[in-house]
Amino acid sequence: MSLTIGVDLGGTNTRGGLITASGEILCKARRPTRLHLGAEGVIDGIAECVRVVARQGGVSLADVRGIGVGAPGPLDPFEGVLISPENLQCMHGVRLKDRLEALLGLGVAVDNDANLAAYGEQWLGAGRGVDHFLCVTLGTGVGGGWISEGRVMHGFNGNAAEVGHIAVDHEGPRCPCGNFGCLEMYASATAMVRRTLERLKRDKPKTRLHAERLTTQMICEAAEAGDAFAMQMFEETGVFLGVGLVSLVNVLNVNRIALTGGLAQAGDWIFEPAKRTFWTRGTIGVKEHVEIVPAELGDDAGILGAARYSFEMAADSF
Ligand SMILES: [Zn+2]
Repeated sequence: MSLTIGVDLGGTNTRGGLITASGEILCKARRPTRLHLGAEGVIDGIAECVRVVARQGGVSLADVRGIGVGAPGPLDPFEGVLISPENLQCMHGVRLKDRLEALLGLGVAVDNDANLAAYGEQWLGAGRGVDHFLCVTLGTGVGGGWISEGRVMHGFNGNAAEVGHIAVDHEGPRCPCGNFGCLEMYASATAMVRRTLERLKRDKPKTRLHAERLTTQMICEAAEAGDAFAMQMFEETGVFLGVGLVSLVNVLNVNRIALTGGLAQAGDWIFEPAKRTFWTRGTIGVKEHVEIVPAELGDDAGILGAARYSFEMAADSF
């Protein structure tokens, strides 16, 4: 049986899975990402996660064709080098591909985690059978993976589909990327909480929400309970998201968009205003063909996409 190990390196957890060529996950493991031990700790943690997955699956590393790793961007997928990932600062400049290949004795393919989540969804989830597909993650930030003609698009240095950094308000707040009013400043789960807190403080609206430990889930529960302020926050966030999706479709010409990440869990509270805005502003002749749907694979999208990418890279090297 042809097997690879897909790894999803996050700021909190490192996940791995032993995966067959048809996309069956034979076993999975999860380890905390050891940021406190610096780059060496993180690299050793990935290698350990890979070995644990192989052991749990009853195979040796010699039985595995390769390793795929999804890591936070920006990064260079061609060289497998991480470039100042915001939640893994200690990994700046680390040659992850080379380091893991030396430790594990296997071919390692590294790509942006959002690209690989999209690749996983297009293989076995919400993008099945769709060759022009975008997967947008609404989490700590806003990430994107773009599939065109069935393949992940990288751009000239691996930073295509950085969908969180298209401007949706040119006079909006400064984004750490250098631009102003980026989609990520409005439509990430983090941004929605931040904007809600600002509004609570500034406008003192009548609401059941309060400033302590606010989450998008709490805003969602308030909206479910009929809280007008919470509903208004979803409406505004969804409109920003819809505005962003119109621009993305005009450039990328995809016909299905899957939304994933914490904010996508809010279901129609976020989907409805985003879809309505998309429909109102989208280009006639294009928008009619676009479906905006929830992603299907949850946390497994990343490891499945990483495994698929690894299979492809292994096949290319023969
Ligand atoms: Zn930005």
